[in-house]
Amino acid sequence: MAGLSPDVVIVGGGIAGGTMATILARNGLEVVVLERETIYPDRVRGEWIAPWGVVEFKRLGLIDLLYENGAIDVQRNVPYDENWSPEVAEQRALDFRNLLPEIPGAICIGHPTMCNVFSASAKESGAHVLTGIKKIEVTAGSGPTVAFSSNGQTVQLRPRVVIGADGRNSAVRKQLGFPVLADEPHNLLGGMLVANVPDWPRQVQAIGTEDRFHYFVFPQGKDMVRLYACYDFADRAKFAGPDREARLLQAFRLNCLPYSEAILGGLPVSTFNSYSNEDHWVDDPTTTGIVLIGDAAGHNDPITGQGLSIAARDVRIVSDILISTKNLDRVDFLPYVEERRERMRRLRITGRLATKLRVEFGDEARHRRARVSQRSMQRQLSPLPATLIGPERLPAEAYLPETIEKLIAP
Ligand SMILES: Cc1cc2nc3c(=O)[nH]c(=O)nc-3n(C[C@H](O)[C@H](O)[C@H](O)COP(=O)(O)OP(=O)(O)OC[C@H]3O[C@@H](n4cnc5c(N)ncnc54)[C@H](O)[C@@H]3O)c2cc1C
Repeated sequence: MAGLSPDVVIVGGGIAGGTMATILARNGLEVVVLERETIYPDRVRGEWIAPWGVVEFKRLGLIDLLYENGAIDVQRNVPYDENWSPEVAEQRALDFRNLLPEIPGAICIGHPTMCNVFSASAKESGAHVLTGIKKIEVTAGSGPTVAFSSNGQTVQLRPRVVIGADGRNSAVRKQLGFPVLADEPHNLLGGMLVANVPDWPRQVQAIGTEDRFHYFVFPQGKDMVRLYACYDFADRAKFAGPDREARLLQAFRLNCLPYSEAILGGLPVSTFNSYSNEDHWVDDPTTTGIVLIGDAAGHNDPITGQGLSIAARDVRIVSDILISTKNLDRVDFLPYVEERRERMRRLRITGRLATKLRVEFGDEARHRRARVSQRSMQRQLSPLPATLIGPERLPAEAYLPETIEKLIAP
């Protein structure tokens, strides 16, 4: 165990926490990570890293770690969808390889695998990673404190800074009373891991809608795929109950998806968990002595799969501040607060549009989806590319209401 006054205590050793601990420890800071779990469970969290997030992990110097531990490149998105035949969908595929020059596209890797990788790299870099931690209590101020229980013993640390990286239900955020803003829940999104699907093309992901079912297929290592389903609250009962995994698999019997037989022959190897889909955000995720990062600072609607990329960007900006500033003050985090506020605003607008296009059902919604797809292929201005290349690479006009109205207009 470190001394009782390390430079930084990180609460939560998931994606944001493990990554942050690695970077800070590599740069000579004394870091303690407090993680609740002893084994990272498969809770159904992100496994697809957007191209802009791949750039972020590369800039952090962590991309090789992901490849060494089974990350696979995803080169193309094929929009198998009720709007067109599989052949037409393949002609409309989006190639990720040419989107950003410094990386080969998106990548897929399991969430528990990533947590283990970053926890191990944090330890190798010199951070003290404590697991099975209970009863965390944090106080803010110019000398913040963190008390916790470890193996039945109560310990109190007095670091320079406490980082809350304890996910979407952050205890640090709740204890310190950060106000959380949220959109209305749109629908439900859930996923499960399925093995024995060797015929799914490894470099291809598919996203589409048929009838009242919006689906995603992401390749995972070996013969596995991660299936996600997005559906209306009114259809909740269809995917609930003890046999929900079998029923979810059967829902992939889709006319628009040429590999549906291969998927139906698969074997669910995780439970199916679903969550309501909407953005949550904190206007200013800092207070004296405290900074929130990753989902603890607010999470984007997972429909656009941005959470891992957001966490990596948070880590890069906040770690730069911590490494370069000796006598930290709350105002030192202002560049992070301002950049994150605008980044999340843009991604929120993009997520709302993605949900409108993909998870509203019926003829009108189907025609709208086809129209917007056509206009996007003709490069009409739209916020949607933000989810691939990053929200800051598009002009501010892309996020204006009039731009979106023009994009979806009949
Ligand atoms: C259904 C679904 C699908 C998603 N798909 C994608 C996707 O494809 N791509 C993508 O980029 N993002 C996706 N996301 C979002 C992504 O999973 C998250 O944004 C990302 O995991 C955030 O990382 P984090 O480290 O902030 O939180 P987490 O990964 O949740 O890590 C938080 C850590 O804190 C620990 N912890 C929690 N409470 C405490 C406590 N009190 N004390 C100590 N430790 C604690 C937890 O055990 C955990 O290890 C998805 C999310 C959901 C819900």
